[in-house]
Amino acid sequence: MGKYKVKVYDSLLLKEIQLNPTKLYKLRPIRLNTKEVESLSSYLTRLAEIHCITVGTLLDFILQNSFVPADPRRKYIISSKINGINNNIDLFINAIENLTGQTNLADLTLLRYKNIFSNVNLLKNTKTWCSACLDEMRNNNHSIYEKLVWNVNHFNVCPIHLVELESICPDCKSEQKIVNYKGGNGYCQQCGSWLGNFVEKCTTISENDERVYHSQQISYLFTNLNMSVTSKEKLIMYLEEVDEKLLKISRNKEKCNEIFGIARNTFNRFLAGSSVQLIFLVKLCLLVGIELQDVIFNSIEIKNKLPELFRNNNLKNKKVEKRKVGKTYIFNKLKTRLNIEKIKMELVSIINSINQEPISIRKICVKLNVSQPTLMRYFPDLLEEIKRRNKKVSKEQKSDILNTRKELVISTITTLYSKGIYPSSRRVEDELPFHLIYENELLQVWRETLKELGISYKQN
Ligand SMILES: [Zn+2]
Ligand SMILES: [Zn+2]
Repeated sequence: MGKYKVKVYDSLLLKEIQLNPTKLYKLRPIRLNTKEVESLSSYLTRLAEIHCITVGTLLDFILQNSFVPADPRRKYIISSKINGINNNIDLFINAIENLTGQTNLADLTLLRYKNIFSNVNLLKNTKTWCSACLDEMRNNNHSIYEKLVWNVNHFNVCPIHLVELESICPDCKSEQKIVNYKGGNGYCQQCGSWLGNFVEKCTTISENDERVYHSQQISYLFTNLNMSVTSKEKLIMYLEEVDEKLLKISRNKEKCNEIFGIARNTFNRFLAGSSVQLIFLVKLCLLVGIELQDVIFNSIEIKNKLPELFRNNNLKNKKVEKRKVGKTYIFNKLKTRLNIEKIKMELVSIINSINQEPISIRKICVKLNVSQPTLMRYFPDLLEEIKRRNKKVSKEQKSDILNTRKELVISTITTLYSKGIYPSSRRVEDELPFHLIYENELLQVWRETLKELGISYKQN
């Protein structure tokens, strides 16, 4: 019997246990500390999904539990810039962290760079995405999420798949808001279509395309979380060093401009302490032949590197090319005028094209290699014309899609009915690749068809 003696653990007796339950589930962010990290807006969409509430309800709940100052807080926090470096976004993030117990959520935004980057043109106003990336997530049964880097301006091609990012739904052609109160990563906010659908119409891009370089450099912003971001002072010192080297190549400051294609005024503004625009830094790195991450994490002694970098970068060739032309100034003027004519012709041809696709102004800017403000300044009327054309085209497309869907609803009802199955709205919806129950017009078609077939309504 002695063998079966019961052992008593006195430590189990009266120890008080502390549990700290959080109000929301501790959802882990996807791929933190990688180029592929998800955005805060994507995280919030998933967080709402697992609680079976809408993103709108979740946002209200977070704001109620935050120290974000009263209205119009929504306008500033919950905007297309939610993944950026807006004021008070840190208070908002604190509130999510307290509610979920999940830390490091600031790394789902660009907040890390608030001391060095300007907010101007940092983020896009509507969503863009790589269809191939989305398709891969779905095919591999991974959680569908949206990458933070897709939000950054000038990240226009996917460096993994070498394709341009998409900005409109392949089905109904609508643009997608960064924060959508009804939510749903990877699906169209208007018609519910899957935004992947990659194979049909991708244009592959050469690896040497400058846009690929821009995208690659930008995606480094989200790695190296263990390294601290350089200070504004150090960044200015770096710019000064570059400037000095530039002067050595050419005594004339204006000439440096011509060689590098970066406006002197812009350069001066940054030297004087204005926050730097990300794209300026990316372009400068390309010209100097240095990695963006070396600048923003201050990881190499740039001063020692510069002479060698400049030598390797074919600057001398560029200089000779310009000099051959002689009167560089006139040459540049002429070149600009020529481009303007060309741009005008392109715009007119877009307006007159019979191709039934809306073309966003952003895509036009990328295609013509011109900034949106410049385009606005020179061609306000043509741009208005293009916007009107886009609206007209997408309206026609929407009605085409609606008609096809109506027909599909009718044929589904008749098929089910002929098999002896009661075609309830829910049953019919199961057969369809789109929503029926929340679409009034389609629901109306469903009712009318049932009536025509003489089927009486049953409760679903
Ligand atoms: Zn991709
Ligand atoms: Zn759509």
